[in-house]
Amino acid sequence: MTAFEIEPGRLFIGGRWREAADGARTEVIDPSRGTVVTTVAEAGAADVDAAVRAAREAYDDGAWSGLSGRERGRILHRVAELIRRDAEELAALESLDVGKPITLCRAVDVTNAANDYEHYAALAHSLHGANRDTPLNALAYTRREPLGVVAAITPFNFPLILAGSKIAPALAAGNTVVHKPADETPLSALRMAALLAEAGVPDGVVNVVTGTGPVAGEALLRHHGVDKIAFTGSTAVGRHAASVAGQALKPVTMELGGNAAHLIFGDADLEKAVGAIIKGFVFNTGQFCMGGPRLLVARPVYETLLGILAEAVPGVPVGDPRSPETVVGPMAGEKHLRKVEEYVDLARKEGGRIVCGGERLDLDGGYYYRPTVIADLPNDSRVVQEEIFGPVLTVQPFDSEDEAVALANSTPYGLASGVQTGSLARAHRVAERLQAGIVWINDWAMLDPAVPFGGVKDSGFGREYGPEALAAYTKVKSVVVSLD
Ligand code: NAD
Repeated sequence: MTAFEIEPGRLFIGGRWREAADGARTEVIDPSRGTVVTTVAEAGAADVDAAVRAAREAYDDGAWSGLSGRERGRILHRVAELIRRDAEELAALESLDVGKPITLCRAVDVTNAANDYEHYAALAHSLHGANRDTPLNALAYTRREPLGVVAAITPFNFPLILAGSKIAPALAAGNTVVHKPADETPLSALRMAALLAEAGVPDGVVNVVTGTGPVAGEALLRHHGVDKIAFTGSTAVGRHAASVAGQALKPVTMELGGNAAHLIFGDADLEKAVGAIIKGFVFNTGQFCMGGPRLLVARPVYETLLGILAEAVPGVPVGDPRSPETVVGPMAGEKHLRKVEEYVDLARKEGGRIVCGGERLDLDGGYYYRPTVIADLPNDSRVVQEEIFGPVLTVQPFDSEDEAVALANSTPYGLASGVQTGSLARAHRVAERLQAGIVWINDWAMLDPAVPFGGVKDSGFGREYGPEALAAYTKVKSVVVSLD
């Protein structure tokens, strides 16, 4: 596969493509080469205002919110079909924009995006209120109504999937949307705007404003015409977004950072566990909120497992994301690469033992870093406690189940966690004690739109996926009808 020409991107507002009001544009970089692939319009506050107004008008005219759930579901099914029709193009776009291996884009990003729309297409006509039994001489029932205009703000690492995880349930429930994709990875959002329109989503129901967080994101966050903020990104920006929403008393979903622990007990099948361990920290070049960058290992198997990792990790194919053999591509941007380098330098200063990796990979001018395993860091080191967001695994020993759980729960984050054990009883016991929104047993990153995910503590609140997410895009109204 070779690089291909991408048309310059424009904003999608009210069903029309347009330039930013002030004509501003920004470059999109191919992280595997460090070269400019195209430019996209950079929205200012006036463009965001136009997008929110378009979404409000579309909501108020009822062309979408007034459809039955079944009718909306039919159109969302069509979106899933169109994603599958254009799977190859979408995969190539996502790979170019984010630097993800093309095989990953096909198998995970595009497949899951289609699954998201299909899932919520099916759930769209399952939304219903309930009759309530009361002592009143009245018929009491609840209605599930859409919220109105949803602001969807998404991060750079899974652009297609994380847009779908918001837009699909928001649309299924009858809302309209303004989507602001991440500054550095806007391309698939623009392609999806065209596919949603082709599927029959009416003008103004989904609007896409590309631009920076501090300008376009901030304007969207603060816009009085927005009824809900669905945010995925870092804990620092999420904290800010939640406080702005708090002042305006707007509902929010906050999907924030992670730093998950992967617990390896002495009774685990190590040969099998090693695949899950490697997947947990190299998947998406470690730019995975639900990755497992902290490995906690029972002391009797600690050195054995380090030996297995020292052999296996250097064999993971790192390279050009266009190659079907590649498992680990470049970091999505230069600033992300620099952050990883800084953390690995810090690990050396904090007394870490570099088991393998620990350096950049010089290839085609891209932002590559070798998968890196670091042992023996103290638990209070910054490298253990903070979110690195790169292909770096820290490994620490533990002496008891209690200590393993305490170490796992010792960071501010609580998004995901994993347990490798041969004991069913231990698996359930430990899963209950882990502070995380999802716990995987004897594998890593098993995800499906039917299974809710989200965080606790500094990883945020609210859930995406499952009927839980659909409910979060609705408000409940009670109707009480006198029978006198
Ligand atoms: P980020 O917080 O820098 O940016 C996320 C989005 O917020 C982007 O669209 C950005 O432009 C926007 N933004 C930035 N400043 C803003 C502001 N002042 N007002 C409004 N919007 C603003 O995050 P990132 O670097 O793109 O993504 C990586 C982070 O996202 C990591 O911390 C990762 O763990 C997290 N993440 C979480 C999940 C999850 O499901 N919990 C999933 C993926 C990524």
